[in-house]
Amino acid sequence: MKKVIVLLLGLIFSTYGYAQNDDEKQIKKIYNQALTKGKAYDWLNYLSNQIGGRLSGSVQAQLAVDYTKAQLDSLGLDRVWLQPVKVPKWVRGTPEFAYFETSPGLSTNVSICALGGSVATPLGGLKAGVVEVQGIEDLEKLGKSKIEGKIVFYNRPMDPTLISTFAAYTGCVDQRYSGAEEAAKYGAVGVIVRSMNLRLDDYPHTGSMGYGDTPVSKRIPAAAISTKGAELLSTTLKLSEDTQFYFKQNCKQFDDVESFNVIGEIKGSEFPNEIMVVGGHLDSWDLGDGSHDDGAGCVQSMDVLRLLKTTGYKPKRTIRVVLFMNEENGLRGGNKYAEVASNKKEKHVFALESDAGGFTPRGFSFDCSDENLKQVQSWKTLFEPYYIHLFEKGYSGADIRPLKDDQMVLAGLRPDSQRYFVHHHAENDTFEHVNKRELELGAASMASLVYLFDKYGVVK
Ligand SMILES: [Zn+2]
Repeated sequence: MKKVIVLLLGLIFSTYGYAQNDDEKQIKKIYNQALTKGKAYDWLNYLSNQIGGRLSGSVQAQLAVDYTKAQLDSLGLDRVWLQPVKVPKWVRGTPEFAYFETSPGLSTNVSICALGGSVATPLGGLKAGVVEVQGIEDLEKLGKSKIEGKIVFYNRPMDPTLISTFAAYTGCVDQRYSGAEEAAKYGAVGVIVRSMNLRLDDYPHTGSMGYGDTPVSKRIPAAAISTKGAELLSTTLKLSEDTQFYFKQNCKQFDDVESFNVIGEIKGSEFPNEIMVVGGHLDSWDLGDGSHDDGAGCVQSMDVLRLLKTTGYKPKRTIRVVLFMNEENGLRGGNKYAEVASNKKEKHVFALESDAGGFTPRGFSFDCSDENLKQVQSWKTLFEPYYIHLFEKGYSGADIRPLKDDQMVLAGLRPDSQRYFVHHHAENDTFEHVNKRELELGAASMASLVYLFDKYGVVK
């Protein structure tokens, strides 16, 4: 009896070892292919340098749809299509201009940019006194008497002690998103928000903002100021309380326009009705060329399907790449994709998003059950040779979140985040700041995770 058990155990372990060995080999193939014949970097070069910033509703966004569809068409997938979606169209207009004035005629220019969705200033610009706050909660303490007729200057910096810069971003971004809506309630005439950037430099960082249910006539203009500009303005206000701030912007919101999610898929050989999604968002802000946010995630996702194909892997489940439109200022693409999936009663079992920059991958965060996380963690040793070590519960991605149900696994690629917010939503989010190998390692890591989930399935 003992002998039988020992034999059985031996068999189990050798089968397991054999499977591990197969997985090691397949993953090695994926990394080798990505690092020697990867396509992600070339695709990104085109998206960034031939097309550029791809704000929803822009000509560039449409060019990006056409280009990525043509590239997916060339990969020999089973199906490539465009999914129509109406998106908002906001246009920045001519470059913004700002200065502060400590006494008549004595002024200092600072770098600003309109926040996405903001209204324009009056035609001749807006000039007013400034009240600096560390956050929305300060408004109530100050009250209407101190705020009315002023420009509110939100200056709470990102917390440098947080190792995840995304956590630091989350700790600040309410100022950008809701700052104008809240300040308008106290009679402010405009808001200036410190850029979400950990570095001191002269780039203002845009990003979405909303007015909630503020009536159109009560909406006040909102702009981001560079971190250096914010420091200078803050110091100046301490010396001279009566400093006046001037800014001018002529951005405009138009009616919604038609755009598309770009989708390609490889049909599953065993479970074609079980769908696995890998994606990023194709739109970007308009200041840079959106290389890190999120050109990188798009080209990595496209390469995932190519890597599986070129390494000879035949997925059991249907694997889809989805390039979502309008993550930045509306999430219409993510919502539309989930809506269509639900109308068609499609069964999504897994979704992975890359939307945290094209930097060296560290691992993944998972929005899933404990059982599924356990399964992922059992694959840790397969990723060790590639220095991928982070497998934890957490946020997946904005575009795939609308798909969430309690059965599926949602995941986000987690690259090193230390430099991300230097570039995020700013003019310096450009191609030269993406490292080819780092980008390719991300694509290979994603393809490996997709491979494992396809092969072993999600735990139900
Ligand atoms: Zn993004």
